[in-house]
Amino acid sequence: MRPGKQIRPARQARILASRPLLERTLAIIQWRDAAIADGWLVVPKVPGQDWEQACVLHREDFQALCVTRNEGTDTLTIWAPDGMQVPTPNPYDWEKVKDGVSTCLFCGATGIAPHLVGEGGRACKECLAKL
Ligand SMILES: [Zn+2]
Repeated sequence: MRPGKQIRPARQARILASRPLLERTLAIIQWRDAAIADGWLVVPKVPGQDWEQACVLHREDFQALCVTRNEGTDTLTIWAPDGMQVPTPNPYDWEKVKDGVSTCLFCGATGIAPHLVGEGGRACKECLAKL
């Protein structure tokens, strides 16, 4: 680009719109790498495929599915040994992952006796009544 040349507004808008998605992908990759450095076992989601694009992390019967294949659709989901999801602490924090077994995914209440909602959702009694 020549000095002084302006980026077309439409292109600038597209670049700026993609920024949150790129930041989300970056946060997921940083979380995954911190978890691996902290002792989680990593295996490719699909045997033989690139684990950096889709992997399952394991530690003490917790599992985390980490997909960083396409900016915008990337996901990080953690399940506890009881089969229900736990919130994803950001940045990575193993103690907070474990504490997630008594945290409501819907309202964030802590110290709850969790109830299963749908396929692996973890809810407090109050949120369960509203769902
Ligand atoms: Zn709740």
